[in-house]
Amino acid sequence: MPSIHYPAHLKQHFASDNYAGMCGPAAHWFNEANNSGHAPAYGDDEWTLKVSNALRELFQTDCDIYFVFNGTAANSLALASLCQSYHSVVCSPVAHIETDECGGPEFFSNGSKLLVADAGGIAAQHGKLTPDAVETMVTKRSDLHYPKPKVVSLTQATELGTVYTVEEVRAIAAIAKRRQLKVHMDGARFANAVATLGCHPSDITWRAGVDVLCFGGTKNGLPVGEAVVFFDKKLSEDFAYRVKQAGQLASKMRFISAPWLGMLHDDVWLSNARHANAMAQRLSAKLDAIPNCRLLAPTQANGVFVHLPKPAIEALQTAGWRFYEFIAGGGCRFMCSWDTTAEAVDALAAAIAAALTSTTAPSPQ
Ligand SMILES: *Cc1c(COP(=O)(O)O)cnc(C)c1O
Repeated sequence: MPSIHYPAHLKQHFASDNYAGMCGPAAHWFNEANNSGHAPAYGDDEWTLKVSNALRELFQTDCDIYFVFNGTAANSLALASLCQSYHSVVCSPVAHIETDECGGPEFFSNGSKLLVADAGGIAAQHGKLTPDAVETMVTKRSDLHYPKPKVVSLTQATELGTVYTVEEVRAIAAIAKRRQLKVHMDGARFANAVATLGCHPSDITWRAGVDVLCFGGTKNGLPVGEAVVFFDKKLSEDFAYRVKQAGQLASKMRFISAPWLGMLHDDVWLSNARHANAMAQRLSAKLDAIPNCRLLAPTQANGVFVHLPKPAIEALQTAGWRFYEFIAGGGCRFMCSWDTTAEAVDALAAAIAAALTSTTAPSPQ
């Protein structure tokens, strides 16, 4: 990854990895698709075919692939395809599908309920589900007055910037299989997780028992778009109709699909993620060294979660820093992206240190 230099007036933010623009290779293929004349619409173009084949090659399996505009649609439609209206989906209390999709999964599945399973202890603090938490939730009731558990949804990397190990994914998927549940993976930050684990992408998906993956592209350097990857092709029956009905079928699909070529060639998707992860490590180490700045979860992907006192938060916001403070039970979230610079990280860390000093200094006697 070449080092990134930005003019100082182009401020970088840490609110979300989707604040960043598109990376060079994605932009290149976006333009290639634009400069090659007319092409069939609605996904019948050569770009979409090429990218789908490249994704099948990446995962080393014959999977079904669809492109949608965003992660909320990817998750909602994928879950809807796994569930009848009377089914339910087991997820963690901090799952994006539970807290940040405005009821999309329930809406598109005509009422399937999300069952929030609190794993307790360290797992919960890390935003994870555990096999036990899934088992408890699924065996709690078996009568017909309760929505029948049908899916387990894992977020990889998690909403708290941690990463499930290969063994953890396998163990949860094994319980799911034993209880006849399908496994959905919200992979808005799948690339960051693979970069951290250093595993093959198949090792934490179909080889571990995942049936459908929502493979995020937007947060990793694409202009727009997520891929929904069905490893169990029986589950994608009629999925194209769902996508169309939901208003997620892009007529000029090639502009969503072609940029993926830039991500997949030379494993740019991984180098982008590695860079974002490295910037998060840099920030994490700096914040960990500041007194009064408590890390809420280990930094395993591209986000750093810390507890900051209210006055310090306000001082940072007044100084123009943008970040979320309502995620992770009152913690502050700082996300790094594929183009986050070391200078920006250092400036943020210095600003946080200064905000803590100025707002927590004892008043003069
Ligand atoms: C960002 C994100 C999504 C997708 O969100 P959209 O804004 O709808 O693209 C899904 N899951 C997680 C964990 C996310 O962080």
